[in-house]
Amino acid sequence: MRSAEKELAELEAASLRRTLRPVNSQQLTHAHIGGNKLLNFASNDYLGLANHPAVKSAYIDAVENWGAGSGSSRLICGSLKPHGQLESYLAEAKATEAAIVFANGYAASVGTLSGLLRKGDTVILDKLSHASLIDGARLSGATIRVFPHNDLVKLEKLLVSTTAKAGTDSRVVIVTESVFSMDGDIAPLLEIIELKKKYGVLLLVDEAHGLGVYGPSGMGLSEHLSCSSEIDLQLGTLGKSAGVAGGYIAARRDYIELLVNRSRSFIYSTAPPPAQSAAALAGLMIIRSEEGTELRAKLWSNIQTFADHTQREFPTSAIIPWHVGDSSSALSLSQKLQEQHAILAPAVRFPTVPLNTARLRITLTAAHTHANIEKLCSALGH
Ligand SMILES: *Cc1c(COP(=O)(O)O)cnc(C)c1O
Repeated sequence: MRSAEKELAELEAASLRRTLRPVNSQQLTHAHIGGNKLLNFASNDYLGLANHPAVKSAYIDAVENWGAGSGSSRLICGSLKPHGQLESYLAEAKATEAAIVFANGYAASVGTLSGLLRKGDTVILDKLSHASLIDGARLSGATIRVFPHNDLVKLEKLLVSTTAKAGTDSRVVIVTESVFSMDGDIAPLLEIIELKKKYGVLLLVDEAHGLGVYGPSGMGLSEHLSCSSEIDLQLGTLGKSAGVAGGYIAARRDYIELLVNRSRSFIYSTAPPPAQSAAALAGLMIIRSEEGTELRAKLWSNIQTFADHTQREFPTSAIIPWHVGDSSSALSLSQKLQEQHAILAPAVRFPTVPLNTARLRITLTAAHTHANIEKLCSALGH
């Protein structure tokens, strides 16, 4: 039998072993780790809503009113009012006919692709798609085709060959992210939409890192580009900028109803705690409010400060990849920032990113001050 100890030693030797880091503080600008107070540039809580008083009190009130747990899956007796309220609100905010909520974004990706697709269908994925999208595609049994990151020419070639073969009873879905989680760059959504219309296929866009950050009401890059209505399946998480947890799909009613019938991560899982949905709803409401607009402005002003100090090209999102190359150099830079500057900026390594593209993944949030950003830049030598 293969030895687990040996496998761990191999990971260690390749600087690829990971360990958990217990954090003894709330999700704020500083993380208390191992007795040290570190300035945190690792969180996806882009607007600082994980500690927002309205989000916390919505959570607490819903626990009082609805209890701690849902007791069963959604289709049995676990569909409580807060789930439905969140789904209606999402559908309205995303201007779709309906929406469905999952326990988290991972479950939403896996459950949607595996629920809507089967053998004989095709998923056409951007090469840098999140693990949850790849896993959903694999689980579906559909044929998987991959195009190089953001490469529209290669995407069109795949569309030509796939749609030539596709029968009238099959589905073809293009899958991409609005903001890519490890590179922080964005997808050419308008051009992809042109292609999806030209070839008559479906489009799924994962807005995990776009929600809250882009758009006049914070509904993501698709809102910013006014193209939401052209996206068949709008996927996202409520665990990042919404500050809580949960995953969603906003789409036409028939797709949502099909997911209720076919999505195994939705059907065979206890419904999320009702309070999670109530708190996520409060987070979304803040994202869409005037306060949300101010938080977004603060976030983008922090991104601007970072770009000014490092004299880098203006980043396209709150995710800034600081490229290093090999895993061990990335680890030592991250360690140096932590030990000499009390800064948390984790190294991201294979298999999360391709081999030899290890980097620090720096995330900026609206909760950071300009002084926080300046400290980071100076620790990075700027
Ligand atoms: C984080 C993330 C997910 C998963 O969402 P969770 O709610 O954290 O499970 C899905 N897609 C992308 C691109 C992500 O970054």
